[in-house]
Amino acid sequence: MVSESEIKYNTNNIFNKIIKKQIEANIVLEDDKCIAFYDIVPQAKTHVLIIPKLECVDFEDFLLKSQDVGYFFDFILKVANKLSLSHYQLKTNKGQKAGQEVFHFHVHLLSND
Ligand code: AMP
Repeated sequence: MVSESEIKYNTNNIFNKIIKKQIEANIVLEDDKCIAFYDIVPQAKTHVLIIPKLECVDFEDFLLKSQDVGYFFDFILKVANKLSLSHYQLKTNKGQKAGQEVFHFHVHLLSND
């Protein structure tokens, strides 16, 4: 069962600033619902962060609020295809104790292709 996040969405988070173009990011792909950009501290040859523009704290908050979860997964595939990746990991940290540092839901796309 999906539960409400204990953390309230804070519009000052760094990824929301990237969405609003208040700070720069090295963007791979963007549309009206999602954005993908390179992680500033790459953990693999290719390390991209993929986020919905919807204001949601983490994975469970995204599931609660999104009207179209599948759209986000299709967008991830578009990013992988654009970068010609066929071997990759998708990872999301849910909660501080799991290593989540930025409280706007994001998926790490990691590849050494
Ligand atoms: P997490 O620990 O899952 O919350 O991941 C947060 C990720 O955001 C880390 O891998 C950071 O390196 C990355 N990060 C933080 N600030 C920025 C930024 N301004 N642009 C790109 N990536 C960032």
